[in-house]
Amino acid sequence: MAYDVIVVGGGPAGLSAAQNVRARGRTVLVVSNPLEENPLWKAKQVDNYLGLPGVSGAELLTAFRRHAEDSGAEFQEGRVLSALRSGEDWYVSIGNTMAQAKAVVLAAGVARGKKFPGEAELLGRGVSYCATCDGMLYRGKRVAVLGWTPSAKKEAEFLEGIGCEAVYFDKPRDCAILGAEKVEAVRCDGVTEAVEGVFLLRPAMAPGDLFPGLAAEGGFVTVDRNMETNLPGVFAAGDCTGGPLQVSKAVGEGLIAGQKAAAFASSFLERL
Ligand SMILES: Cc1cc2nc3c(=O)[nH]c(=O)nc-3n(C[C@H](O)[C@H](O)[C@H](O)COP(=O)(O)OP(=O)(O)OC[C@H]3O[C@@H](n4cnc5c(N)ncnc54)[C@H](O)[C@@H]3O)c2cc1C
Repeated sequence: MAYDVIVVGGGPAGLSAAQNVRARGRTVLVVSNPLEENPLWKAKQVDNYLGLPGVSGAELLTAFRRHAEDSGAEFQEGRVLSALRSGEDWYVSIGNTMAQAKAVVLAAGVARGKKFPGEAELLGRGVSYCATCDGMLYRGKRVAVLGWTPSAKKEAEFLEGIGCEAVYFDKPRDCAILGAEKVEAVRCDGVTEAVEGVFLLRPAMAPGDLFPGLAAEGGFVTVDRNMETNLPGVFAAGDCTGGPLQVSKAVGEGLIAGQKAAAFASSFLERL
């Protein structure tokens, strides 16, 4: 499907961006996990969101989401795995599907945790971030699934369903992926298992892994006052651009990113 703007992440920044794209009359797709998996959902009380002292994180997120939905934003549940520019368009892979847009707003929050030893070196050689995309390559093989999201167990079941032998690790804290040319084993929290594939299912990915060449400093995406990154048509907002890691800042940046992304898509269309 083709949109004017794709928003990566359905938290406060992404929902604000989406609502503001719609306010400019442009189409928008928000890609994110279920609302209940957003980190703010757990906040019992948010006291510093102006005008709504004491509101819960769940209440706030539900209201933000309803506002974006009512404005006409479309939603797709899933994780964006990568984005590539071809011609004037961005092609965003979401699980094993693809969507296309003139502009992208990255509002993916903070990727907590560092890469594990062996992860970068063996990516594509046994390390994968998506069971439904790469699972068939491991049919009949023994694989490990390391899950930090509520839906990760389902992805392990999917792998079992297509004929893999899946060993599941729930939220491991310590891990190393072992192998010289390809994955041979994984060591999680002191337990070593011989496997040919390792699926790492985190709620968020580092921005640079999604957008090759994206400028970042200290783990945060570099943006200007228009929330524009160094990549044409890519804007960023919220926690992923740096502190303060707060809802009001995420919503404000989402507004700017949404407006600027909509303008970018419009100016592109006017040039045709
Ligand atoms: C327990 C708790 C209490 C808090 N209390 C307060 C408070 O009182 N006041 C306050 O101002 N702030 C509070 N915060 C901080 C606040 O939650 C964040 O600042 C705010 O949620 C940031 O919004 P965001 O949209 O930038 O990122 P997020 O809310 O983190 O949303 C990003 C979303 O994008 C998803 N995502 C990431 N990568 C991908 C991908 N590749 N594809 C698809 N989706 C992806 C993530 O899973 C996530 O759902 C609290 C946070 C926590 C955890």
